[in-house]
Amino acid sequence: MECSLYIHVPFCAGSCDYCDFYSVPGFKPDLSAGNYTLVKYVNRVLLDLQDAMRAFHVKSVPTVFIGGGTPSVLGPVLMKELLQGIASLLPRGGSGLEEFTVEANPESCSEAFIAVCKDYGISRISLGVQSFNRASRKAVHRLGEVRELGDRLALVLEAFPSGFSADLIAGLPFQTEKILLDDIEKLVSYKPAHISLYALTIEEGTPLAGQYAKIEAASQAPRLNSPDNIDRLWLAGRDALEKAGYHQYEVSNFCKPGKECKHNLRYWRMKNWLGAGPAASSTIIDDNTGRGVRFTNTPDIEAWLARQSGEPPPRQEEWLDAVTLIKETLLMGFRYIEGPDAKLFKQRFKIGLEDAIPRTLSRWRERGLAEEAPPNPARAGLGKKGILFLDRFLIDAFAEIDAHRVKSTAKQCPRLAN
Ligand code: SF4
Repeated sequence: MECSLYIHVPFCAGSCDYCDFYSVPGFKPDLSAGNYTLVKYVNRVLLDLQDAMRAFHVKSVPTVFIGGGTPSVLGPVLMKELLQGIASLLPRGGSGLEEFTVEANPESCSEAFIAVCKDYGISRISLGVQSFNRASRKAVHRLGEVRELGDRLALVLEAFPSGFSADLIAGLPFQTEKILLDDIEKLVSYKPAHISLYALTIEEGTPLAGQYAKIEAASQAPRLNSPDNIDRLWLAGRDALEKAGYHQYEVSNFCKPGKECKHNLRYWRMKNWLGAGPAASSTIIDDNTGRGVRFTNTPDIEAWLARQSGEPPPRQEEWLDAVTLIKETLLMGFRYIEGPDAKLFKQRFKIGLEDAIPRTLSRWRERGLAEEAPPNPARAGLGKKGILFLDRFLIDAFAEIDAHRVKSTAKQCPRLAN
């Protein structure tokens, strides 16, 4: 089976107020492999990867992504061990590997860390910049000195001139349009091949959501941007990125030609992946039956580490029927500007994408919010305008799928009828 790999490194130096990823704060980069928790983590995650790859007979790995958390807190010594361990697990000596990404935060992305990444197979570093503005960073407890950001960006560019990505957030506290546009100008001057521009999301249960809840109207608090303002800022950022030569290829992702993130494209196109580490998930879909399984590891480092050897990680297991997967395929696929993989959709669900949601597609096309179907439809995307209304599109598409289910007989469409 062909399968991508995701490794979740759930450690961070601090705790950012807007973050709802699973991470454990208080970890500094380990320079000598002396941190017992980190050492145990690396050993365990490699064993889990090995077990999962054996269980699913993984014969080919096109992409690997080490994310977090903050993978760079592992430091150069443990990162080297992790990378060597992953390399030893890759089928055919890793010859089919097209992309190998690691996420890093500037404050722990040292010269030694970058050198290890370069020497041990990483092809792409994704740097969490978020903002160059001191007040914005401080307001959300984002660690790292602004004066160090430029140096780290220059180091990454030197080592990975064509495989360097960076993240920014639009809508942070204290951020004005000018501040965001200055951030974009500064980041672009370091020539990353890929930029992710996220609109700040106020995730329930985060400290930031608590701050928003305290005020009746966020727009009345000068330091917090209202939801409308966040959208406005993101749109201004999008236009600035397009002007600087970065084309939008997904809801929040922009790149120079040919520099899309191959690993994330596999998620958006619902290709199989195995995840290892606390909170990591795996999704495996049978292309012939349109059914699948998902494992989601419990977000608990203690429980994850406390296992006897040979025991699987504490996790939830979910069997996915075809209708659930059709909806997920639409949800993920229409994030990508070119839409879901129509060929794979037909193969898995025995119905063409155009036949699964014909009314929705034709209504959205009439309004100019979805691309016209090419004569031989290999793609059916929303395009840049339509993607702004993705949530509304999905409501229409899911309603049509549900209506189909009621009417469908197993003969018309076995997948939709189940
Ligand atoms: S560094 Fe990243 S993963 Fe860690 S707390 Fe901040 S946003 Fe979350």
